[in-house]
Amino acid sequence: MDANRTGLLEGVLAAVNLGAIVLDGDCRIVLWNRWMERYAGIPASDVIGHDFFSLHQDLRGKRIDSAITQALRSNLPSVLSQTLNKSPFPLYADAAARSRDERIQQALAVSPVEVAGAGRHCLIQISDVSIAVGREKLLRDQAMVLRSQTFSDGLTGIANRRHFDVAIDKELRRAKRYGNALSMLMIDIDHFKPYNDHYGHQQGDQCLIQVAVALATMLQRSTDLLARYGGEEFAIILPDTDAQAAYMLAETMRTRVISLNLPHEKSPAQLVTVSIGIATMCAADQYDVPGLINAADRALYSAKHAGRNCVQAHVTASA
Ligand code: GH3
Ligand code: MG
Ligand code: MG
Repeated sequence: MDANRTGLLEGVLAAVNLGAIVLDGDCRIVLWNRWMERYAGIPASDVIGHDFFSLHQDLRGKRIDSAITQALRSNLPSVLSQTLNKSPFPLYADAAARSRDERIQQALAVSPVEVAGAGRHCLIQISDVSIAVGREKLLRDQAMVLRSQTFSDGLTGIANRRHFDVAIDKELRRAKRYGNALSMLMIDIDHFKPYNDHYGHQQGDQCLIQVAVALATMLQRSTDLLARYGGEEFAIILPDTDAQAAYMLAETMRTRVISLNLPHEKSPAQLVTVSIGIATMCAADQYDVPGLINAADRALYSAKHAGRNCVQAHVTASA
């Protein structure tokens, strides 16, 4: 090869935006390009002639080890994706990243190279895929935020109606499968229209938030779900809960709302109160989702008729 051509190749190797390491048949480093010098922080003169695995002991037995063996022994190339091989080389974008031990995200290609008169060598190419990985993470995070927004109520932060619909369907099927009881509560704020008319919509919103938070803190099990069912109506799903336990919880919730002590001049109680309807599906009942919600709605209706600020349970033959 003439001097011009050698100079050209060296120039290109130094300029490429890619890490290049070449190993000879005995895994000794014979080339370490400028990109490697810059991001590894090690000059070529420190590594040329050294055994690759003595310098990178932690890579012994890893995927890159078998890729190198495969290239040198079997003349086969390999590609190591970033997802399966987390940044094998200690390469850093800058000093700050180095101090945080935040490696450049790497995708590797290992290929056999025949060198005239010197036998088979192995070329390791390293590309920086940090930007692609960062973009992917951003998209994943955004998808998670969107997902949680899709299932939560914007005002109160509790589960929304969509979340409730998915959960009640799942819990009802689970209750039927295992023959367990399932209860649901329908909770409605009393005289809320006059509350809004008197105190204004914004204070109405604050009242809804306070009631939602109070109810949420009373749920004991991770499988219980409180959701905003409609404007000033909340629904609670209580898996594995019989009629008696549901009644006790409903009563405690009713008194908890009273103890918030939220003034309501336009209500006979002079305080914000709630009415609660309960429906319980026992093992023998053949409820479907609309049937269960209907039963809770009817119980709520009778609580309103019984004078509000009280709890009523829907009674079925087998409950
Ligand atoms: P009842 O005791 O029979 O439940 O009477 P009510 O006045 O509470 O019942 P009604 O269904 O007539 O009124 C519900 C009111 O809830 C109507 C609406 O002004 C109010 N509301 C619904 N959603 C919101 C909301 O997001 N924010 C506020 N501030 N008010 C809401
Ligand atoms: Mg209502
Ligand atoms: Mg109401």
